[in-house]
Parts: sequence; structure tokens; C-alpha cells
Amino acid sequence: MPGRLEGKNAIITGAAGGIGLETTILFLREGASVLMTDINHAVLDKALHKVQGLVKNPAGRVESRVVDVSKEADVEAAVAHLDSWGGLDVMFNNAGIMHPKDGDAEECPNDIWDLTMNINVKGVWYGSKHAVKSLRKHNKKKGSIINTASMVAIVGAATPQLAYTASKGAVLALTRELAIVHAREGYRFNSLCPAPLNTPMLQDFLGDDKAKRFRREVHFPSGRFGEAIEQAHAAVFLASDESSFVNAHDMVVDGGLTKAYVTPE
Ligand code: NAD
Repeated sequence: MPGRLEGKNAIITGAAGGIGLETTILFLREGASVLMTDINHAVLDKALHKVQGLVKNPAGRVESRVVDVSKEADVEAAVAHLDSWGGLDVMFNNAGIMHPKDGDAEECPNDIWDLTMNINVKGVWYGSKHAVKSLRKHNKKKGSIINTASMVAIVGAATPQLAYTASKGAVLALTRELAIVHAREGYRFNSLCPAPLNTPMLQDFLGDDKAKRFRREVHFPSGRFGEAIEQAHAAVFLASDESSFVNAHDMVVDGGLTKAYVTPE
């Protein structure tokens, strides 16, 4: 049985982290070739080591490359690296930060606002821009760009992280517009909106603070945080041709959280 991503070349940003690594694993199992990119060299090396045996397609490959998504030259060079693979088919702009110094309107420092926007918004813009340039250069008739936003782009939280929330709202808006602009070229753009997850990004922030944890957990109809692999499954669908008529979509993977008022006891 051919994999659902057989023969597709993909770049994943933030590939050493929770969602990025799980997605790399599923992409490889489905027959894609993957360039894993991340800013963190040491963790990226470990992640590459973990997945190296999973390449399914005989012509497939997995490689890694240090990329800071807020630096356009880094992103451009990573995309150009896939020229020798036959060009990019799938771009998963997934890297993002949620800074501990982020806060409400008064608390959030200017430099943290700028850092968050540079990584979470400009990084997604650069990834989208160079993906389109590559798809055009290789005369591809279809391509899938998936941009990780967040549930907080669509619902407000009384535990504010203003820069983070604003950045993810921008990801939704820019993804929607790109989807419409490039639809007739066959290039699809969709957003992934995860709910709070069991990944280091959130769990390190919550630590052992039971009250902080409960404040969030109580809103899940399912009574639990999400798992990174549950986001990765959605990314596989959006990357594959199974989603050929899914465009400009905010794919909310949240266990029903954003549709819940009172949750089960
Ligand atoms: P994670 O922290 O495990 O992974 C993020 C990865 O991005 C890390 O490996 C990190 O090194 C990398 N990264 C950070 N800055 C970078 C940069 N400038 N350039 C390249 N790579 C960089 O977090 P995760 O949960 O896997 O998050 C992935 C995405 O999902 C993020 O965009 C995040 O905002 C979003 N998200 C996460 C949650 C959650 O609860 N974890 C919820 C909603 C949305």
C-alpha cells in the first residue's frame, strides 16, 4: 500500500519539538521525505537520530538543518536545499514560542512582543513566501502549506499572553488570505489550531502548580490536555491529497474545548 504522502517532499519547522517531531514520524511513515528544521541544534540532532530508521519510501530521506524561522535567509536556504530533491510539496510552518515574560497589556515587555511576532508571525510569512516561490519554480500544480496557530486565536483567555495570542490571530488571518490568493495555482493554505497540549512548551510553564493546571484542565470536555500526535494526525491529512478541497480552513483540534460551555464533572 502506498503511503498517504508517498513521494512528497516536506519541510517541518520546530521539528525537534512536540508537534514537529510527532509530525515528522507520521510523515515518514506515510512515505514523505522530510527536512527537519529547528533553532535548537542539540535537540534537533537527537530528534533526527530518533527518526532515521523510519524512512519508508526507497527514494525517501530525512535530513536536519538548523534554521531560525525569524531569519529570512535561513528559511530561504532551507527551501532551496530541497531543489535537489525535486522541490518542496509540503511546508509545515510549525515553530513558535510562548514566552514566560508575556502577559497582559501592561505586563508584556516591548522586546518580548517583538520577539514573539518575529518568530510566530514573520517566521510563518517567510515559510509561506519561500514555499510559494519554490512551488512556482518547480512548476508544481499543487502544494500544501500548513501554519500552526492556536486555539487562543479564536477564544479569549483570562490567563493572558497578549503577544502570543495576537501572533496566532495574525497566523489565522495571513493563512486565510494566502489561501485565497493562491487557490487557482493549486496551493492550499490551512491553519492548525491546537488546544493546550502535553508538550514541553506548556507543561514546563505549568510545572507542579496544581491550581494553574486545574484552571485550564477544567475547560476540556474530555478532562485532559491534548497530545502532540493528535495534532500530527491532522497535519498528515492537511498535507495529503485527501484534503484536496480543504483550503483556508482553521483546523481546530481541541477535544471540543472551544465549543464547550459547562463541561462534565
Ligand atoms: P515545543 O516547544 O515542543 O516545540 C517548538 C519548537 O520550535 C522547539 O523545538 C523550538 O526549539 C522551536 N523553535 C523555537 N523558536 C524557533 C525559531 N526561531 N526557529 C526555529 N525553531 C524554533 O512546542 P509545540 O507544542 O510542539 O509547539 C509547536 C507549535 O504549536 C507552536 O507554534 C505553538 O505555538 C503551537 N501550539 C502549541 C500548543 C501547546 O499547548 N503546546 C497549543 C497551541 C499551539
